[in-house]
Amino acid sequence: MGSEKILASIGEVSDDTEFFTPIPTGYVPGRTKYVVVFGTVMSGLGKGIFSSSLAKILQDKGLSVSPIKLEGYFNRDSGTLNPYRHGEVFVLDDGMECDMDLGTYERMLNLDLTRLNFATSGQIFSRVLEKERKGLYLGRDVQMIPHVTGEVKLRLRELAVVSDADVIFVEIGGTVGDVENAYYIEAVREMSHEEGRDNFCFVALTYIIEPRILGEQKSKPAQLNLKLLNAAGIHPHIIACRASDPVTKKVREKIALFANVPIERVFSMHDCDSVYVIPEMLRGAGIDTAVIDRLELSDLVDQTSEEAARSTWSDYISRFRGAAHPVTLGIIGKYTSVRDSYASIIQALEHAGTHVDAKVQLEWIDSSDLTDANVAERLENVHGVIVPGGFGIRGVDGKIACIKYARENALPYLGICYGMQIAVIEYARNVCGMSHANSTEIEPDCPHPVIDILPEQKKIEGLGGNMRLGGFDVALTPGSEVSRMFGDREMIRLRFRHRYEVDPRFIDELTAAGLVFSGRSPDHPIMQVLELPREVHPFFIATQAHPELTSRPLTPQPMFVGLVRAALVRSGVSADVAESEPLRDGSESDSIDKATTSA
Ligand code: GLN
Repeated sequence: MGSEKILASIGEVSDDTEFFTPIPTGYVPGRTKYVVVFGTVMSGLGKGIFSSSLAKILQDKGLSVSPIKLEGYFNRDSGTLNPYRHGEVFVLDDGMECDMDLGTYERMLNLDLTRLNFATSGQIFSRVLEKERKGLYLGRDVQMIPHVTGEVKLRLRELAVVSDADVIFVEIGGTVGDVENAYYIEAVREMSHEEGRDNFCFVALTYIIEPRILGEQKSKPAQLNLKLLNAAGIHPHIIACRASDPVTKKVREKIALFANVPIERVFSMHDCDSVYVIPEMLRGAGIDTAVIDRLELSDLVDQTSEEAARSTWSDYISRFRGAAHPVTLGIIGKYTSVRDSYASIIQALEHAGTHVDAKVQLEWIDSSDLTDANVAERLENVHGVIVPGGFGIRGVDGKIACIKYARENALPYLGICYGMQIAVIEYARNVCGMSHANSTEIEPDCPHPVIDILPEQKKIEGLGGNMRLGGFDVALTPGSEVSRMFGDREMIRLRFRHRYEVDPRFIDELTAAGLVFSGRSPDHPIMQVLELPREVHPFFIATQAHPELTSRPLTPQPMFVGLVRAALVRSGVSADVAESEPLRDGSESDSIDKATTSA
């Protein structure tokens, strides 16, 4: 039976069938193809990087793609998750707080995603429970199969309708064998049957160990875990083997034999110096052809588009690899031991560095150890500093010491969200003489609450979803440093995630003392960017937003570009060289345009 027929026969909700497959209006069976990526052996293999690279090589061929991450946890979004455990919380333009993988997809695919691209068990089960209360299950007992799995399939088909993509990339969070994601795996198994054989491609990412004691690659954990996938009713079409070094033919043969997948479809995916190298590595191995063949998509392939995309991308990679000027930037934070908590900042610095021919090295500095007494020594080797976003009281004094030092010693400074709020506190204390200036987040009853909770956030109770979230416009003061950085634009769009803001009552006093608020919300008295003029400091910019979230490889975020340029000058590179290294593939203003409008 063709997929159309199957869908039609099970599309209606009824109590005299075992099927439950609600189909969204406008869904055309067979129109959309699906690639599903499963993780085996262990988490942390870079499933999102793999899946986004795979999506990119199909996108390069002229196909439209849209990703979705299916998370097993019950949180409705990632907003309440500790970045120390789960990596940074990525924020989409529509305000969705989600897994950091969505950032990888946005950067790799140069797409703005929405809440439809991110599902959690919390969302799926909430919808099921709401429907149960509305009596939509017509007297049936509500079960994992078919109702919960039906809801998952509905989410995938909804994305297919809304995105109108040729291929949906489904990344299932966690690893095969977890209790949390078992129903997602079941849902895609059911759906592959409903949609028809040629419309689904299952890809298993696995891990090849190389114990030092043996000095050779071993495939047993991979074999056992691939068997688990088989036991769940999924026979992968493609297997990608993660490893530190290229996976040997012998190991790939073993995997092919035990997992029953032809050797030509078992690929090595070893470590690389930049995530942006992975698409070319997958293409080189022939994984793109394997997917195209499986999904019978060769008619849609546009070779000219592919060649153009490849050359732009390889230009980026050779610039990244060949960057001439080493420069060191300090990141002052509290989660400095876990790089994933700052994933987008690391990426934004890579993009900016590549743009201006700088090889950016990072120095992680724990703010809890910084004091006025040791800050000069601690920052001795850095050419610029970033105080990134953060919450709570820990390490704030160290951040104040760092900002004071940067301000007084012409050290380039970029403050992000909390980094802007703390810059205001530092200025109020040390320049305006308000020795007790603070944020009410740190000291609720302080005498000079220069940073206070946003009026509209005061009304919201509980921790989930009570922040100002997502993309908002920022009106830039004409002639300001920041407006200059954005190609003299007067309105840009940035992404936000905060609960506190500069209290408007203190703005006159801060401004009179020399602090410039050069970016404001067009409709509320919310200060969104501050700066010190060029005559006073070579680069002192802070923003209430998270500019790192909208930086893309080919369209680096101008604030990061500005910081790296200033750091280059600090490191001894002449200002002329630092200021004149635009990307080869587009004019500077063109890249700024994309960075700001796609935010
Ligand atoms: N804690 C601050 C606030 O809630 C800053 C948040 C952040 O840096 N993302 O406003």
